Amino acid sequence: MNSSNTQGLPVSTDQPMANPLLYARAISRALAVVGDRSSLLLTYWVFLGRFRFTELVKCTGLSKSLVSNRLKRLIGQGVIERRDVGGANEFHLTEMGKDLYDVALAIIYWDKRWHFTEGCVTHHLKHAGCGKEFSPVPSCASCLQAFDARACDWHYGPGEPDSSLASDMPSRRSRIAASALNVEHPIMDRTLEILGDRWTALTIAAAFYRVRSFGGFQQALGIASNILSDRLSRLTELGIFTRNGAGRAEYRLTEEGLSLFPVIVTLMRWGDRWFCEAPALVLSHRACQNPLVSTMLCDQCGSSLGFGDFYY
Ligand SMILES: [Zn+2]
Ligand SMILES: [Zn+2]
Repeated sequence: MNSSNTQGLPVSTDQPMANPLLYARAISRALAVVGDRSSLLLTYWVFLGRFRFTELVKCTGLSKSLVSNRLKRLIGQGVIERRDVGGANEFHLTEMGKDLYDVALAIIYWDKRWHFTEGCVTHHLKHAGCGKEFSPVPSCASCLQAFDARACDWHYGPGEPDSSLASDMPSRRSRIAASALNVEHPIMDRTLEILGDRWTALTIAAAFYRVRSFGGFQQALGIASNILSDRLSRLTELGIFTRNGAGRAEYRLTEEGLSLFPVIVTLMRWGDRWFCEAPALVLSHRACQNPLVSTMLCDQCGSSLGFGDFYY
């Protein structure tokens, strides 16, 4: 597919993109790595400092063989590396893995805003810089103002779209047993609902490209109608979408759904940085007219949150 005729054209706020999935290459590639429940769960625990195999088995509640299989996969994908620490094997994030930090902060921003839970560890992280309990604020790196979905425009970038993205996606939406989730980490339960299934995450991403009808999603994502139907009703049930009208229903992001925008933006940026030569899709921040590069700021001291800049 040739995208040259659409390069650089801003996308109208009223019109859906011709084919969001084709242009959402970076998101699809990012989801190919983290859009798997077990991989996401393991990455989360390594983030929180559990480096040993036995600890990871215990924390995740996954079987040893599954932990071993997913660690191997994450090592192969470049997210995690094995280190020998005093004769013992440890699993640590690589530079590429650490770069997922902004995605994690974007998830915390959304989850804390809508599902604040007193006992949730990640809702009480403290910023090493100022020593205060903080919430991350997704901000524009150029003007340092907070951004949201309504403050940005999409443009087609120079990167080539790739039409062979969805071919290996599993259709079944797996459910994780409640018993496998630590009560102090309900954030993972909610994150897994959204990012732990690639079709669900891509359906949300398409909604940000202003796709609204059943047929629109089907065409944009190349998704089978039974899979789409399942994901749309689940997202409506979760309060991420609202469904308006009978017959030709429209699915729109709710306020809660809209605040997932930084998650999609940071995932896209991560995918662009690690898997794509040039972005196929570029965002601009309307307030300052600059290309949107997201940065996460501490709401207490205003400084930028770097990897590992927290304690709990
Ligand atoms: Zn800006
Ligand atoms: Zn701070």
